[in-house]
Amino acid sequence: MSRLDSAIRRLEAQRACLDQACAAIDRRPGPVLELGLGNGRTYDHLRERLTDPDRWPIYVFERKVAAHPDCIPPDDRLYLGDFHDTLPRAAEDFRGQVVLVHADMGSGDEAANARLAAFVSQALAPALAPGGLVLSDQVLRLPGAERRPLPDGVAEGRYHLYRALEQ
Ligand code: SAM
Repeated sequence: MSRLDSAIRRLEAQRACLDQACAAIDRRPGPVLELGLGNGRTYDHLRERLTDPDRWPIYVFERKVAAHPDCIPPDDRLYLGDFHDTLPRAAEDFRGQVVLVHADMGSGDEAANARLAAFVSQALAPALAPGGLVLSDQVLRLPGAERRPLPDGVAEGRYHLYRALEQ
């Protein structure tokens, strides 16, 4: 498979996962967290799918904003800084309320990815609402959450979906 084929498959998988997750919270308003703004592609997609910002306010976490100018969140929806500083604060702000997290935070450094995923798993867990969904490019070990199947056609391991247990 060429690198182009692989990039296309990755983006198609990402879109399929985001669409499935947005459909799943259709009757479930609450805060949505986007971890890793990047160039803003997936933030823009979430905004387009979750059209009512009062029902699904999207909070973005990023250490350095460098997105397309149309895809920059408002200041009061941006947690600017390293996840190690911002996620614990957000977990306090949204304790037990978050209905969807999308984490797209990987780099080419597998060891660093694993360390970050371990931190994010622990830091995010208290923010999740019962039944809240977490979609991640990295394997997470989320306390109190179970792994859920990916949409049809998305290869196992390409993305990872978790759901917080109902208490
Ligand atoms: N989903 C995005 C898109 O569609 O454009 C791409 C996200 S990009 C792969 C990952 C982003 O996560 C980068 O912008 C990077 O700066 C951010 N990031 C990675 N580790 C971070 C950390 N520890 N704290 C804050 N931001 C981080």
